[in-house]
Amino acid sequence: MVLDNRFSTCYVSPAMNETLPLIPVPFAPAEVRERNSERTSPAGHTTSCLFCERPMNPARVAYYVEMTTSLKVVPVGVDAEDSQGCFPVGTSCKNLVPVGYRITKKTNPSLWEMPE
Ligand SMILES: [Zn+2]
Repeated sequence: MVLDNRFSTCYVSPAMNETLPLIPVPFAPAEVRERNSERTSPAGHTTSCLFCERPMNPARVAYYVEMTTSLKVVPVGVDAEDSQGCFPVGTSCKNLVPVGYRITKKTNPSLWEMPE
């Protein structure tokens, strides 16, 4: 019998996998995103919030979420086949998803080790 490596390495807890569904990305309204994306970014704000496109300083990012190609947010610890990776969200926008969907430095420190 061959074990599925991907499953075993991403395995967190069956309870978590079963109770939290993928949820749609809570994008801000188009006019808000447009306004934010057209803002003049302050120095060092080279990234932006996934939900509202507000410019952010990568050094100050406190939360990420994992998004799929079907624009769903993946619960922490769940293995999504169509993941696009992890994206920063702002400190107020993080409240748009429950705690179980917020990736923090504690749950995934490798995201904070990106080269500048
Ligand atoms: Zn935001």
